[in-house]
Amino acid sequence: MNGVALKPHSHRSALLFAFAYLVAAIGALLLTKGSSGIAAIWPPSGIMLAGVLLLRGDARTTLYLGAFIASMVANAIIGTSLWVSIAFSVANIAEAATARALILNFKQSSRDIASARNIITTGAAACVAAVLSALIASVLTSEFESGFLISWASTVFFGMITITPAILFIAIDIKEHERSLVSIVSTTSLIVLSGAVAFWQTDVPLLWLPIAAAGFATYRLGLTGAAVSLLALAITGAVHSSAGLGVSGLDNSVVGTTLFLQIYLAGVLLALLPLAALLSKYQSIMADLVFARQSADLQAAEARRLAETDALTGVANRGKIIECLRAEIVHAKATGRDLSILMMDVDHFKSVNDRFGHAKGDLALMAVANEGRALAGRSGHFGRIGGEEFLLVLPGIGIDQAAEIADEMRFGVRHLDWVGHAMDPITLSIGVAQHAGMQDDASLLGEADGRLYAAKRAGRNQICISDPPLIPLRRLS
Ligand code: GH3
Ligand code: MG
Ligand code: MG
Repeated sequence: MNGVALKPHSHRSALLFAFAYLVAAIGALLLTKGSSGIAAIWPPSGIMLAGVLLLRGDARTTLYLGAFIASMVANAIIGTSLWVSIAFSVANIAEAATARALILNFKQSSRDIASARNIITTGAAACVAAVLSALIASVLTSEFESGFLISWASTVFFGMITITPAILFIAIDIKEHERSLVSIVSTTSLIVLSGAVAFWQTDVPLLWLPIAAAGFATYRLGLTGAAVSLLALAITGAVHSSAGLGVSGLDNSVVGTTLFLQIYLAGVLLALLPLAALLSKYQSIMADLVFARQSADLQAAEARRLAETDALTGVANRGKIIECLRAEIVHAKATGRDLSILMMDVDHFKSVNDRFGHAKGDLALMAVANEGRALAGRSGHFGRIGGEEFLLVLPGIGIDQAAEIADEMRFGVRHLDWVGHAMDPITLSIGVAQHAGMQDDASLLGEADGRLYAAKRAGRNQICISDPPLIPLRRLS
């Protein structure tokens, strides 16, 4: 869904808002032309406010400019005089800037954008901005009639409180909750349908229907559902009332129709707010819970990893490598698959420490461990049994192949590029054993251990693959 997510610094997003402003302004002006110019809501104000709240920096300036031009063009299309167009456009731009400043100043900086305080702040900011807008338009055009003032302020106010939340919530929803546009569109269609059915006719009292549908939409889509419901009902109602249809047309006066729709929308808004606020709180608590769960899981995984890892070499520790061996024995018993192990011990390691120091000795152990890990690859398991003793578990490998691998290990370690390499290469003694029959891990380890000590006794830097007679392998020097 990120493809549709809004980019706050994008001029393209700003132009998109300006274009939406133009379309909404032309639509609203044409719709209300036949009804004495009074609309129930003035959508461009809501689009503009959402835009200036969402956009940042230069992109926001682009929107102010773009919306001013859009407003001038829309007014020119319906034949408003130049000066009045300028006055109206200035009033609308000023109202958006004012509402934005008030909202940002007083809103609670919490993730819960539908907290009671944020809802009240937005409503109050829209109210103040709408009154200011009406006053500016009134003063600049010397139109001081109370009807003009009230209708300007109320249509702007309803434009802002119905359309702005819808745009903001959808933008947040798509970004944070990855809500699909399909579910938003299908739910919106349901609201529009219920509004159309309720508003179109007067035979059956159906005004409760859109409220029930809006409640369902809020339940399904949370804040977006509430905001979209209000928006859909405002537009559906405005279209019907401008055509003088349905309940909103019962009172044939234009003012009465407009007032009815506005009061109805306010009622829907008040009915939805508690549910929307509760859902929003629930969503933010759920988000916190999911986050807490994820970090607990990560911590547990890290603790598990640490508990199974040898701190010095980073390979499996004694507990883990024995656990792997047991699991492989169970599997070998069940399937009859070959399983061999290599028990290895660094020769004369004490003297390595004595001559090069403990820290260099540590480096040698790490180098040996890396060699073993590389040799184990993806199918085998390698771990540190303790001190300078390591175990390689080789599932699917028989004794002969295990002997080859042991020699490879011995060869690799002997040629390790280690700090003391030039003076004194590290050598390993290795005991190799293959699992047989019902043998358990202790018995298998004991067998390998016995052969390891046989290799030691035989002079070290050797591999022993069977109990006496001892057959040391010296394939690689
Ligand atoms: P052998 O050939 O018989 O195995 O002789 P060795 O010296 O390797 O065996 P011994 O058991 O006498 O000594 C093992 C040494 O390994 C003693 C101990 O200091 C050293 N060692 C054990 N763990 C570590 C470690 O983590 N770091 C370092 N640097 N040395 C360790
Ligand atoms: Mg040793
Ligand atoms: Mg040892």
